[in-house]
Amino acid sequence: MHSQEIYLDSNATTSVLPQARAAALNAMSECFGNPSSVHASGLKARACIAEVRARARRLLGVPSGELVFTSGATEGIQTAVLSALQAVAGRSDVRCLLYGATEHKAVPEALRHWNQVLGLGLEVLAIPVATDGRHDLAWLREHARHAGLVCTMAANNESGVISDLAGISTALQQSPALWLVDGVQALGKLTLNLVQLGVDYAVFSGHKLYAPKGIGLLYVCEGAPLTPLLAGGGQEGALRSGTENVPAIAALGAVFEALEDTDSFRDVTTLKVFRDRLATALCDAFPGLMFNAPAKWCLPTTLNFSVPDVDAKLLLDAFDAVGLRMSGGSACSATSQQDSHVLRAMGLPAWQINSAVRLSFGPADDITLIDEACRRIRLCGSSLKQHGLLPSSPVKLRPEGGLVRLTANGACCYLLLDAESRRCVVIDPLPELTATLAQWMRCRDAVLIAVLDTHSHGDHVSSSGALWQATGARPADPGALDALGWPLAQDSLILGRQRLSRLALPGHTQDAVAYLWYSESDVLLGAFVGDTIMPGALGRSDFEQSAPLEYCDSLRRLRQFVGSNTLLMPGHDYEDRLACTFESELAAQPLLKRALHEQVDPVAFAAEKAQLESGLALTKHHTIVCGAQVSNACAPMQNGVEASQLKKLVQRHSTLIVVDVRESHEQQLCKLPSLGPQTRMQSVPLTRLLNALPSWLGAAHDQALLLVCRSGNRSGAVARALAQLGHPNCYSLIGGLALWPSVADQKTKVTSPSLLV
Ligand code: PLP
Repeated sequence: MHSQEIYLDSNATTSVLPQARAAALNAMSECFGNPSSVHASGLKARACIAEVRARARRLLGVPSGELVFTSGATEGIQTAVLSALQAVAGRSDVRCLLYGATEHKAVPEALRHWNQVLGLGLEVLAIPVATDGRHDLAWLREHARHAGLVCTMAANNESGVISDLAGISTALQQSPALWLVDGVQALGKLTLNLVQLGVDYAVFSGHKLYAPKGIGLLYVCEGAPLTPLLAGGGQEGALRSGTENVPAIAALGAVFEALEDTDSFRDVTTLKVFRDRLATALCDAFPGLMFNAPAKWCLPTTLNFSVPDVDAKLLLDAFDAVGLRMSGGSACSATSQQDSHVLRAMGLPAWQINSAVRLSFGPADDITLIDEACRRIRLCGSSLKQHGLLPSSPVKLRPEGGLVRLTANGACCYLLLDAESRRCVVIDPLPELTATLAQWMRCRDAVLIAVLDTHSHGDHVSSSGALWQATGARPADPGALDALGWPLAQDSLILGRQRLSRLALPGHTQDAVAYLWYSESDVLLGAFVGDTIMPGALGRSDFEQSAPLEYCDSLRRLRQFVGSNTLLMPGHDYEDRLACTFESELAAQPLLKRALHEQVDPVAFAAEKAQLESGLALTKHHTIVCGAQVSNACAPMQNGVEASQLKKLVQRHSTLIVVDVRESHEQQLCKLPSLGPQTRMQSVPLTRLLNALPSWLGAAHDQALLLVCRSGNRSGAVARALAQLGHPNCYSLIGGLALWPSVADQKTKVTSPSLLV
């Protein structure tokens, strides 16, 4: 029986094959000697290495040339690049270095690095690829005449596209260039005829094929230049000094052995059957799904796909909830906000890049695992459908009144719905969210009465028109609305028993306003303040449409209307702080404090602000920043709780409430484990969390809360935000459900969504 976790991210790394684990352990106990020692212990270790090298030669079909054990492909790439560049240094016929535009970052970075270190000043050029991900061979033929080194991968880690190595070999025939092939993703899945192709260098990595991390292999063709990257004790025939990693080499040897026998790994035909089953399950689950590379060119183990109008994060969170591990873009860039350079190079449209998910399994996987993965993929599709999250599959949902907050690239958009009348207002619509918002309203039969902007935005054009169009609703006569969407003839917008009014706040822009949100008893529930005041920042006022001299008075006016503790909901929230209050910001923003305490006049305020705003960099989302962050604005995380400390936490806070901040579909797909009968559980999805803030910060503000999500990111941000808003007792489970010990048992209970509702 396979474990409940189904790992479908094998292009990032794989588990370690049991035989490889055993071989490593055996090497540690039986072959622990230093391979350079001349006594029996050393000889045993050396023999182990020699045996693995011989096996690698057979497997790769390279009877001659060097096979050097390295720490991984990145090291192999450095050695190959250094060797080639050393050899071509000073040659007048060499002007450039070429690499495939979809190459792993290690390749172009190594080319630039060694080009600079060696002072060669060669041009480093990307070989373009077509939309099918394959190299432009005509371009290559043309440029290769002046190239010193050409680097191309055998198969791509993100798209799965297999390169036409035979075509590249032909294109290089008249070229003086040395040729490096990154064979990382090909090992165990494709046959590489390195010798026949005339490859000079090839690199491989153990952890992509069931060996541990930290072991790789570099092939250097006989006669190709080779400069050691590491000099020292002369190991590996002085080609790579440093005591050999014998356990990892032994493990790699066990993987090679498994490749040579026919039982451990599936053949390509079988793998294609697996891939087709997964592809069918994906298409069934997500109507309209598109594959981002043609199957005929792809590895039989990789599927890269996008679902129109469904963000990759939404899919990944749902998959993760049922124990399916996949990734968006490449694993190396998973923590950075950069989109996929591979899909970009292939010229795919932005939506396809932003929605891309990669599913990659390994040749050791079996049909039982694939079928179970297919079942869970369909389960995710049904759950997202039931929650109205697949635009292609509209459903009818019971409308839940209140506020929904959605974000894109640090910008915030709010949707306010009155459940009874179904009237709703959208504030600061974002172009990326048009389809999502329209779908949300359609599923709830919501009646869109206004689309409001808090100001004319500097980082995007309002998508108000697109949203009206997507909902099919009719805006009031455009002549009856002001430029921000407010009906000119009205003082208030009525949403059932609630209402919105507006307050002019020129500063960030001349037309900036706040929308004030009142309850039926005319209590101010919150204010949508755009970029006038954001968590940790004031909106910048150096735009053409800004009114810097009016900013100070606008802040004072807003303060008079809203008081110290009203929730201020910003137009941007770069640090995931949800909302702020004047009280929270006065503590963090000295200039704001001085403005409100009349310690600075509007002219001096504008001048000081201008100074704060000089030379602002782009945001991590590569958009223009709409406010200068104050350095101490984001408090460090102090309230993280390890799973092992949960028992103590429950004992300390007898009335602890565990709050699940995952979205409803994730909660449906994977229930939160119980912390015992005395602990209350509450479900507050992050998108609806603003509705809970007033009670958490008001009368019940000393109520201890343990926030939980999938990985600890969302709950950590909420705990930080609550702490910054003055909540004294909020904690976040570090690592989220991923590290919650009992969650593995829960996952066995994944059932049909209809049974879980
Ligand atoms: N090349 C490709 C195609 C890869 O997928 C990777 C791994 O992400 C590398 C190179 C780098 O390999 P390693 O982790 O062994 O340095």
